[in-house]
Amino acid sequence: MKGNKLFGLFGLFAAMAVGVASAEDYPSKPITLVVPFSAGGPTDTVARLIAQPMGAYLRQQVVIENVGGAGGTLAAGKVARSAPDGYTIFLHHIGHSTAPSLYRKLAYNSIDDFEPVGLVTDVPMTMVARKDFPARDVKEMIAYVKANKDKVTYANAGLGSASHLCGMLFMTAIQADLTTVPYKGTGPAMNDLLGGQVDLMCDQTTNTTSQIKGGKIRAYAVTTKTRVASLPDLPTLNESGLAGFEIGVWHGIYAPKGTPKAVVDKLTQALAFALKDANVKQRFADLGTEPVSDKEVTPLALRTKLKTEIEKWSPIIKKAGVYAD
Ligand code: ASP
Repeated sequence: MKGNKLFGLFGLFAAMAVGVASAEDYPSKPITLVVPFSAGGPTDTVARLIAQPMGAYLRQQVVIENVGGAGGTLAAGKVARSAPDGYTIFLHHIGHSTAPSLYRKLAYNSIDDFEPVGLVTDVPMTMVARKDFPARDVKEMIAYVKANKDKVTYANAGLGSASHLCGMLFMTAIQADLTTVPYKGTGPAMNDLLGGQVDLMCDQTTNTTSQIKGGKIRAYAVTTKTRVASLPDLPTLNESGLAGFEIGVWHGIYAPKGTPKAVVDKLTQALAFALKDANVKQRFADLGTEPVSDKEVTPLALRTKLKTEIEKWSPIIKKAGVYAD
């Protein structure tokens, strides 16, 4: 018994020593940044923009791994089970706070299984449709959708994605239950919208801006309380008859639980560095968003945001009666 205890203590000290040593040399090999949706979509775009300057700061490559499926929960489960050594990190968005209410069973805990690194950005969404959708503005679009609810299809990135959440709020607001078509990310969903295979989608400006500006899809409104500077002609849904409609897609970076604090601190510094990068700021602005302020690039700010958002969305999702087993 005594021997076991001693051995346990020895193991603990040894693990701590390894943790300290590896934190000092960290990073000594490339870091994988897991993105919980397909390549070419909005989360992937944000990840690829910040990966480069984060890598420059850390003097190691930050490589993106896209793990789409189940609205981001497959990737979250995979990261939760990864070694807590700083070589696997995770960029997720608002979906990390809605999944605990949407899924009856999750293979991980959104709070307890992760070490928050810092907030990244808050991206507005846009309500868009295939180019020849027969409605010119929000009013016509809502009227058409309500009159044709058995025919109209709505694309999303699965239960737990931002496009799912926005669609759920929209359908609740207009009292129409549309047929949803789930994808592994809104990158592939956008391809089908461009091809006219699906009708409607609510997606982040990081994925829709260039298609809207190029006239490839129809855009009706933004989902934020105020208009978006890069898309000034688009009204808000709030001002277009859906009073109180508001959703912004906040993003954060996490590491698996147990990642040494010194490693998390380095990652936070790298993230703060990336968010000050001139190219990142410019591309974010072109795509309708901006980096969060310096004081939000902290583990505490992300932890607080995650907890607040879990509490915010839980009753709304319960009321909507949406869940998966
Ligand atoms: N952000 C997801 C993506 O990157 C889509 C979503 O959350 O709706 O594809």
